[in-house]
Amino acid sequence: MLKRAFSLLLGAQVLFCATLRKVELTEEPNYARVIFTLSSRVKFKTGKIKYREKTLLYVDFYGTYPGRVKSRYYFENPELPLIRVSKKDRRRLRAVLYLKSLRKYRVFFLPSPPRVVVDIFFRGKEIPLLQQLGLKVRKIALDPGHGGKDSGCVNQKLHLQEKHIVLDIAFILRSLLENDGYKVILTRERDSFLPLERRTAIANGQGADLFISLHINSSRNPKAKGIESFYLNLAADPEAERVAAKENETSGKTLSQLGDILKKIVLNEKIRQSKAMAATLQRVLIRELRRFYPDVRDLGARGAPFFVLMGADMPAVLVEISFLSNPEEARRLRDPLYRARVAYALYLGIKEFIKEVEGK
Ligand SMILES: [Zn+2]
Repeated sequence: MLKRAFSLLLGAQVLFCATLRKVELTEEPNYARVIFTLSSRVKFKTGKIKYREKTLLYVDFYGTYPGRVKSRYYFENPELPLIRVSKKDRRRLRAVLYLKSLRKYRVFFLPSPPRVVVDIFFRGKEIPLLQQLGLKVRKIALDPGHGGKDSGCVNQKLHLQEKHIVLDIAFILRSLLENDGYKVILTRERDSFLPLERRTAIANGQGADLFISLHINSSRNPKAKGIESFYLNLAADPEAERVAAKENETSGKTLSQLGDILKKIVLNEKIRQSKAMAATLQRVLIRELRRFYPDVRDLGARGAPFFVLMGADMPAVLVEISFLSNPEEARRLRDPLYRARVAYALYLGIKEFIKEVEGK
């Protein structure tokens, strides 16, 4: 109780003296992501201002001081040449984004470190076809989880790391899809670290029509086994939350900090498509793998708050392929044939989902 009161006090103190630490821009064709890193979580508000026939976008950070950030950030991007940061009044710090054109924008918060992310879609952006017409899939983004300093889950005994296995499966899956004429984007092609928020940014920037994140599961219970698929949603059950918490770990985020984002997720019309894709991938994975491994356990397709799926413009799914903590499944994961079979089952699942959305 005392501890709780103390932390509340600290929380309140932090709330009123946050500083803005960094202003960064990541660029993709027709799309930009601005990341404001703060010292702590703050209330923020965004809006548009008309200025000499131009649209400016502002973000107000309440109870925030400029810290050591500059007052002007110039970029070589003709669509977003300048961001100005200044004190709006005693209570607010205002960042103004000078835009050449604006089709739509989206703002969300990411904790640890606290960040306010602004996605700006410029005019002329190619809208993903699935979104536009609800029928064509051309580009598929595959996201091999983890990488570099983040190895994901590991099996010490067999010297296996999640990051290597999922990259291997992604390579096989890419060649299968490319063989059918699909364009495939890999979020990483090497054993390199990639922050969660960069992964969907890459897929968005390249106009991918589908996003599939590949992971290997693990549990403290060595008997836990099976395959499960997830789409982004408020986790309803503790088990789904557990898996999400594990995959969210690289950024040290806690689920309780999700409040603001969740409202946006609920409104996201992509959820229905993502849910349908998760269900199809899961069904086909189980069906195909049971032909060789009759004991494969079906853990189902569920919604969970995965950070890596947030901010995706297209249907997005995360697949947890077997448990590295289960001795039998770890042995399978070591076997190149099992990896190839998983990749092939995923390939068939993706094809079935495309058939569903394209109505053939
Ligand atoms: Zn993982």
